[in-house]
Parts: sequence; structure tokens; C-alpha cells
Amino acid sequence: MDARLSTSNSLFPYKILKSMSRANLSTMEAAPNSPSEPRPSNFIRDAMIEDLKTKKFGDAVIQTRFPPEPNGYLHIGHAKAICLDFGLADEFGGKTNLRFDDTNPEKEEQEYVDSITKDVRWLGFEWERLCYASDYFDQLYEWAVKLIRDGKAYVDDLSAEEIRQHRGTLTEPGTESPYRNRPAEENLDLFERMRKGEFPDGSRVLRAKIDMASPNLNLRDPVMYRILHAEHHRTGDKWCIYPMYDYAHGQSDSIEQVTHSMCTLEFEDHRPLYNWFIQQLGIFPSQQFEFDRLNVTYTMMSKRKLLKLVQEKLVSGWDDPRMPTLSGIRRRGYTPEAVRNFVAASGVSKTNGTLELAMLEHFVREDLNKHAPRVMGVLRPVKVVIDNYLEGQVEEVDAVNNPEDESAGKRKVPFSKVLYIEQDDFREDPPKQYYRLSPGREVRLRYGYFITAKSVVKNERGEVVEVHCTYDPATRGGNAPDGRKVKSTIHWVSAAHALDAEVRLYDRLFTKEDPNQVEESQEFTANLNPNSLEVIAQAKLEPSLANAPIEGRYQFERLGYFCVDPDSKPGHLVFNRTVALKDAWARIEKKSGS
Ligand code: ATP
Ligand code: MG
Repeated sequence: MDARLSTSNSLFPYKILKSMSRANLSTMEAAPNSPSEPRPSNFIRDAMIEDLKTKKFGDAVIQTRFPPEPNGYLHIGHAKAICLDFGLADEFGGKTNLRFDDTNPEKEEQEYVDSITKDVRWLGFEWERLCYASDYFDQLYEWAVKLIRDGKAYVDDLSAEEIRQHRGTLTEPGTESPYRNRPAEENLDLFERMRKGEFPDGSRVLRAKIDMASPNLNLRDPVMYRILHAEHHRTGDKWCIYPMYDYAHGQSDSIEQVTHSMCTLEFEDHRPLYNWFIQQLGIFPSQQFEFDRLNVTYTMMSKRKLLKLVQEKLVSGWDDPRMPTLSGIRRRGYTPEAVRNFVAASGVSKTNGTLELAMLEHFVREDLNKHAPRVMGVLRPVKVVIDNYLEGQVEEVDAVNNPEDESAGKRKVPFSKVLYIEQDDFREDPPKQYYRLSPGREVRLRYGYFITAKSVVKNERGEVVEVHCTYDPATRGGNAPDGRKVKSTIHWVSAAHALDAEVRLYDRLFTKEDPNQVEESQEFTANLNPNSLEVIAQAKLEPSLANAPIEGRYQFERLGYFCVDPDSKPGHLVFNRTVALKDAWARIEKKSGS
């Protein structure tokens, strides 16, 4: 069984489960609770099982493809398509091609091709063959000539606007173009001359001759080729006519002998056309299956809109850690395992839905909890001076690297007289239910000693800059021999040994669950969260992080998961907050409205 698509739901919180009802609770309820239970099936897997049983494709194995258009970076929605295309084929010992659907020369670039291949591999998948729709331009042209000869396609001189007007509506049939019944010879001549570049952009198109009265608008003589004098990122200026998606896609599938071609629901109405071309040409009978688009709250999955954020510099780039792109979430510290588990839990359905961002974050925490080493770091430092600790003394205390993984071992952390703790972990006037450090209160320093706050030093603005404490030497390691208890344990970093670091705290990119909901006259960018990035210039981290590698992922104890940003250099560490831990205190504070 392929562990990549299996999901562990043992920690699945009810709240998230309930919120999923918007998408597909039915698949979720059938989801396995342990890896030994069978995973829920779906209609695409069922079709594969049936097709293998009836030998619909003879002895051929399941063949799928992932067909991105190289006009932007991949996002979490694409991860769902990738997991389905690769995951399902893999399950049956089949194969998957990565095919660039590069039929729109004006929007496509090599940069996107490179990022897409990198992101698919990052997610954990390797393709059988790397293909390009543009590799098939010659074949597609020949097939178009055949359709013209067979009286199934014609050159139309109507303008795009006129074609639209002739198309009719959902309730009214279209009207035939006056050029529809051109003799095949004339069509062949015109099509050849279109290819040679004799006509300007937009002056003519090649259309399939199907049925202008079809209830399915896609079958009302769809355009197969348009004239576009544009440089293509791979074929250069060889072509000045380019096939439309509907004419290129099914035939590309067929050429690659794709048995199960998966795409999102908006292509459901295109399926009859997909089948029509394949039938007319009598070529390999690829079949199309449609599944639900994945959406996540507080973000959006449209490449066009993400491009706008990049172009208008509203984010730092496609890999800005707030972006839902795979390169963005990688930089943010999300793991491929977490994304695959999230996608698997989202199921496969026939209705589009929106999943909670909290659900995605749940899977990120679940995976990082298992694998991320624990360290101590203080984001907003205040000094603690232990008055009865020997000046100049340094002790190395043992710290556990990962309580979830014994093999991760232990490390030594230096402890000394002057430490940093979080400002939040000290209150001069503690509210009710606040159990951290406050005057007269004893707390545990993680892996260290019990300390009791005695007095404070303030600056001229009245802010506490030093908390003077005493420690109990008998409590080394964190326990009192007399068995007395403390109500809280706080993290710390030895001031003399601390590393300075820049820490970038991210929040959701948009303020609205559905960023597309805007007042009239507004754009989706009006919903951008102005506080989605907070930079902490001088956090204090334990010295073991001095050589942390780029993309290294850690749990800063009690704070959350953080990873090393590519901007990080020796001497100038930069960390991104991947996701916060759930903060019990923040919840209490919020509930009481204080
Ligand atoms: P966008 O609207 O963001 O530009 P697209 O569908 O045009 O997306 P493609 O590059 O054509 O992007 O997508 C490649 C594959 O990924 C297609 O099969 C498409 O159906 C699938 N896909 C795209 N977005 C999603 C999504 N949000 N959820 C699931 N699958 C998706
Ligand atoms: Mg597309």
C-alpha cells in the first residue's frame, strides 16, 4: 500500500471534521482511522479497478498525466491534482507523465517550467516521461488536416465577436457561420496559408463542424486553432497558429496512451468534445474524469490572481511564505508529507468545497510534531538575573531533542546567571489564571531550575527590563526534592550565549474567509491582511542553532514551528514561523475578552 496517500486521523479534531461538511464529509467519514484499515474508495479509483478487471485497455497499465500550464507557480490546489494523478497510478503499478500544457505562448515561460518540475519532485513524485503539448504540434496539425478532409472542420472568417454572437445561448440554438460549408479543398488551402503566416492575428480560425444547435455550447462548432504570431517558449517562431485547449488536450492524452485523464469539475461540460475528437480521429480512447477543485479559506488558488499579487509587489514573490504556492509553503516550512495528508483527507468528490485553513495547519503541526527537533528561542526578550547564581558560572543542562522520537537524543544547553525569557512570561500584576512568572511566584525554567521573582528594574518609560530572581539549586533538572510543585514551565536562553536572529511571523494573507467576496468597485486585493507579516528584528536563540541549514525545521518550545529562511546567513539568522502551537493562554484571554 502506498503510504503517501494514506492518512492518519487519530488526532483529527472534531471541529475541523465538522467544518468539512461543506466539502465532503461523506468521504471523510469513511476515512481510515489506522493505516491497516482500507482507505475510502472514490469513483476514479473504482473506474480504474473496473477497467483493469474488464481489460478495457488490454494489458496496458494505468497511465495518467499531470498537465499544468506553465503560466504560473503551482499551488496547494495543484497538489491535489498531483496526488491524484500520481497516487492513483502508483497504487495500481501504473505510470504518470508530467505534461506541460503549453498552447498559450503569450503567457508561458521557462521559469514556470522549472518551478513546476521542482515542486512536483518536492511533493515526492517522479514522472515516467516529461512531455510538452508543443511536442505534438505537428501531429495535431496533421489531424486537423484529416478532419478538414473528412468534412469535420472548416476555416471561418468571422471575427471572435461575430462567432460569439452566432453561438446562441443556453436556451437558444446558435446560427451557422456563412463559411461553414466551404468545400474541403478551399479549407485545406486556407488552413495551410494560416500556418504559413499569410493572415493577421484574429482574422480566421479553424472550427470543428459539430452542431450549432447542441444543448452543450462546447459542441457548437468549437474553435480548434487560432492565428497568433507569438514566440513560443519552446517552438520559437515555427508556428503562428496554435491549438486551443480542447483540441490539444484529449489528443495529447491519446498520444501518451493516457487511460484515465483527471481534471477539475469545470471541464465536465467539455467531456463530450474531448470524446468527439478522439472518436472522429479513431485514436487511443483516453477517458476524462472530473473531480472537485480544492479551495482553502483565507487564501485563493487562482494563478491569475496570485500573479497579480507578485506583479504588484503585494507579496515578495511567488515564494513569499504567505502565498498558497508550493514554493511559498515550502519556504514557510510546510512539509510535503503534511500537504499529502491534507489532500488525502480532503477526499475526492463531485462538488467543489472550501476547506478550513485550520485543517491544513492541523496536518502541518501533526507532521512537524513527529519530526521537528525542539529548541529554545525567545522572540520578545526580557532579562532575568538570578541574584544568587554565581557570576561567571556556566552549566550545561540536558535538553531532549524530540519527545516524540527517542532516537533524536539529547543536547546540552548553556545555563548562566543572566537569561532571556519572553516578556509575555512575566507580569508584574498577574491577572487571575496567570501562572507564569510574577513577583513572589515560583516557576520552572525548562530543563533548568525553579526560580522565584523578587524585584524588577524598569526603564524610563516604565517598562520592565530586568526581572531579578532567586533560584533553588536543589531543583536542577526541573524537580524539587521535597516534591513541591510549580504551575508553569517557561523557556529561556542564556544571554551570554544567545544568537541574535530575525524572525518573520506570518498571519493569513487575507482577512476574509473568501477573499473573492468584495464590495462592488473593489478588487480581491482589498481583502489583503495588512498585518500578515510581522518582523522581529532581534530574537534570542539557543546556540545550537548557529549552523541550522536553510529550510531546517524546528519547534521553538512553547511558541510554534519555525524554519530557516533562504535569506539566512551565518551571523544573520532568519527564521520563518511556519505555524504557531495552539496557545492555551491566548484562548483563555480571548474568551474573557481581556
Ligand atoms: P488556475 O485557475 O489556478 O490557473 P488551472 O486549472 O488553469 O489553475 P492548470 O495548470 O491548467 O491550472 O492545472 C493543472 C491541473 O491541476 C489541471 O488538471 C487542473 O484541473 C488541476 N487544478 C488546478 N487547480 C486546482 C485546484 N484548485 N484543485 C484541484 N485541482 C486543480
Ligand atoms: Mg488550466
